[in-house]
Amino acid sequence: MKESGEVIVVKPVLAIVGRPNVGKSTLFNRVVGERISIVEDKPGVTRDRIYSSADWLTHEFFIIDTGGIDISDEPLIEQVRYQAELAIDEADVICFVVNGREGMTAADEEVAQILHRSKKPIVLAVNKIDDPSMFEKLYEFYSLGVGEPYPVSGTHGLGLGDLLDEACKSFPALEEDGYDPDTIRMSLIGRPNVGKSSLVNAMLGEERVIVSEMAGTTRDAIDTTFQKDDKDYVVIDTAGMRKRGKVYEKTEKYSVLRALKAIERSDVVLVVLDAEEGIIEQDKKIAGYAHEAGRAIVIVVNKWDAVTKDDKTMLRFEEKIRHEFVFLDYAPVVFVSALTKRRMHTILPVVNEVSEAHNLRVQTHVLNDVIVDAVTMNPTPTDSGGKRLRINYTTQVSVAPPTFVMFVNDPELLHFSYRRYLENRLREAFGFTGTPIHMIARKKS
Ligand code: GDP
Ligand code: GDP
Repeated sequence: MKESGEVIVVKPVLAIVGRPNVGKSTLFNRVVGERISIVEDKPGVTRDRIYSSADWLTHEFFIIDTGGIDISDEPLIEQVRYQAELAIDEADVICFVVNGREGMTAADEEVAQILHRSKKPIVLAVNKIDDPSMFEKLYEFYSLGVGEPYPVSGTHGLGLGDLLDEACKSFPALEEDGYDPDTIRMSLIGRPNVGKSSLVNAMLGEERVIVSEMAGTTRDAIDTTFQKDDKDYVVIDTAGMRKRGKVYEKTEKYSVLRALKAIERSDVVLVVLDAEEGIIEQDKKIAGYAHEAGRAIVIVVNKWDAVTKDDKTMLRFEEKIRHEFVFLDYAPVVFVSALTKRRMHTILPVVNEVSEAHNLRVQTHVLNDVIVDAVTMNPTPTDSGGKRLRINYTTQVSVAPPTFVMFVNDPELLHFSYRRYLENRLREAFGFTGTPIHMIARKKS
């Protein structure tokens, strides 16, 4: 969520590494905590918890559980090595986890050696120290040479404060992405070979597109800024910067991680599908992340040239999309060919439209009129005891995505189906094409 015009900030990344079974995923879940997303009750959203936003005190960051990037065919020591390399490539700070109960192992030393070679700050977590009587287990880990060992217990949630304090100390200062707030930041996401790079090239090669800069290159993506009809855009291209030769590159989870980082920096996400190959599970997973992140979304069906068509083909494809991506019912669909450039010109107008909707702020009294009308037409639900939901007042608290707080008598009474109904009324009244809407029910005190 952002206030209108706020600059997107690039959050630092904390990566958790260590050999299997030391407790990486337990710690990950502890740090992430119960970040139940407000959109989580929507069907069709697949969660894949190896990557998440997290916060500690005033620090916001991303956390990756490298153990979740599983390079299954490789021997264990190789896997651990790849995960450590991935952490070095992706993270600002590395949390190296060892098992205090088992003591130091050869695999721990191996990881330490790889990490040593990088200049990334490391915090050493000695896990499974479930009570203070075990503190003496810490000392042997000094010899790993990666600094002071912090005793923690993932299962009991002990020691995490000190560990995170230490990690946060090494985070770089928050980085702004440097673009003017009016610039529309977009990224193209999708599984390999759907045509993301081709689309970026076709888009930049379009008539009257003025490519002003290819320089704004971050660690993860190539940013290209361009202008069309006096509007500024930046396209964040993750596909264009493959780290060739890295084993983890080929894993599905890694491509998801790449996509997530791009999504995080975008206002508008173009979810790219391959018309020739159709929709597969991985497409849904990637789209689910864009939805969860609350970004404006356009579904781009590429390679439309490769499909044998009659006058119903487009309609049928769209129906299939609606069926497969139930949670993206708000996202407009465009059909293009990066190869022949046909219909490429339809993308930017839709990007503009969804970006506007994403930043739309509605007046409070108009909003409340719409809600009151909606309730009149379809009365609020009651629980089994006959207690009825009462909506006292609704206000929009932010844009990008539009987020509404409803003050009600009992938030429990606002069920999925009624929430959905209200959301649809808001869409009918205000448009909101291509943007998710967040609705938060709060007890009126
Ligand atoms: P990963 O393979 O490194 O991600 O390890 P997991 O998080 O899956 O944990 C491996 C095992 O260690 C699980 O059975 C956990 O319940 C257990 N475990 C994790 N953290 C702790 C801890 O702090 N204390 C104890 N006693 N067990 C733990
Ligand atoms: P990425 O991995 O998603 O970036 O995909 P690429 O842009 O590298 O494209 C993958 C393959 O699909 C390449 O062989 C492209 O030539 C081909 N391709 C891309 N766009 C189109 C298209 O619109 N039509 C057809 N027929 N092929 C395309």
